[in-house]
Amino acid sequence: MDFGLSHEQQLVVDTVRGFVEHELQPLEREVERTGRVPRELGREIQRKVRDLGFYAPNIPEEYGGGGLDHLTFTLLERELGRASMALTVFWGRPSNILCAGTAEQRERYLLPCVRGEAIDALAMTEPDAGSDLRGMSCSARRAGGDWVINGTKHFISHADVADFVILFAATGEDEAGRRRISCFLVDRGTPGFEIRPGYNSVSHRGYHNATLTFDDCRLPAAQMLGEEGRGFELANTWLHATRLTVAAMCVGRARRAFDLALAYAAQRKQFGQPIGRFQGTGFKLADMITEIDAADWLTLAAAWQLDQGQDANRAISQAKLYASEMLGRVTDSALQIHGGMGLMDDLPIERFWRDARVERIWDGTSEIQRHIIARDLLRPLGA
Ligand SMILES: Cc1cc2nc3c(=O)[nH]c(=O)nc-3n(C[C@H](O)[C@H](O)[C@H](O)COP(=O)(O)OP(=O)(O)OC[C@H]3O[C@@H](n4cnc5c(N)ncnc54)[C@H](O)[C@@H]3O)c2cc1C
Repeated sequence: MDFGLSHEQQLVVDTVRGFVEHELQPLEREVERTGRVPRELGREIQRKVRDLGFYAPNIPEEYGGGGLDHLTFTLLERELGRASMALTVFWGRPSNILCAGTAEQRERYLLPCVRGEAIDALAMTEPDAGSDLRGMSCSARRAGGDWVINGTKHFISHADVADFVILFAATGEDEAGRRRISCFLVDRGTPGFEIRPGYNSVSHRGYHNATLTFDDCRLPAAQMLGEEGRGFELANTWLHATRLTVAAMCVGRARRAFDLALAYAAQRKQFGQPIGRFQGTGFKLADMITEIDAADWLTLAAAWQLDQGQDANRAISQAKLYASEMLGRVTDSALQIHGGMGLMDDLPIERFWRDARVERIWDGTSEIQRHIIARDLLRPLGA
């Protein structure tokens, strides 16, 4: 494993960091205040990122994307983690499973996402099926040459601005009585498909979730993505990619909180000296940076493993687990170091602390990551 960044990787890091600091961070207070990103502003961000040549960086070049390898893309996501989540929606990173579509599906769904003309959302979770996705009850049944969808999805991120959703639904059962899951592409405006505002969350204001209902929603057979009954494999491809993204963004967010805490500890004086000189504060800083670096290496190592074509599932779960839990501890310490001011919305610290909470829940909770890691450890022993 090479620990140095190539010229291209350093360029990606510097360019994304510059954009985040100069173009996105100045918008954050307004997003927090209003709880939304106006559509026009979203389009402007898309245009600027396209001009920068960094749109759809995760999609292979043959489809017009940036074609970054996993490690370089992870470095990019780490920098994007320094921006408010609501603003990063418009830095197009289409779902990589769209590449699994037919030529017609790629033309109609993937390419507009790559060009910044469409946004996708991905719908798996249901009110009664979260961690246990195979327990989903949203169903698709055959009707002539079509599929008819019925059911509800909730917590679906940025579906409010999405042009279409990648939907997972049960299409029967296998011999063992387990639900067979298939994947569909559903356009906004399809009769029987409704997108309603979701819940308000303490984390990531302005980054909305939606509730989707399907009421006898009829789809032509050509809207199925991938093979019938193979949706779980597609879901796992997507989950691995996003879990690594979550880990990288957690590292970026933690470094931003740490930078503020370090500066404050050096500048804030009590009892006639900077509070960082007190062991209680200095040790906090030492623990914070050690944990951030550890999470960073776990994340980069998982990305590197993917680039080597190795099975990185356990490494990705370890990175997601550790980085998201680390972010909770680091933002809590950053707030403590700021004292009462840390709780006030004059500073972004309280926001970092609130935002951190969701990272241990979405894209597979910490318990589910531990479950994946333990299963992988025990499998070779036949347990
Ligand atoms: C803001 C937000 C945005 C989201 N965006 C999307 C999206 O775009 N698309 C999408 O499909 N989903 C999305 N999700 C859903 C997210 O992935 C789920 O919330 C998550 O997988 C957990 O499911 P759940 O909330 O139903 O919790 P549950 O599965 O009900 O879990 C409740 C608790 O039980 C624990 N638990 C469950 N099973 C086990 C087990 N086997 N062992 C140990 N503990 C267990 C969990 O760890 C958790 O602590 C989003 C969620 C949030 C909060």
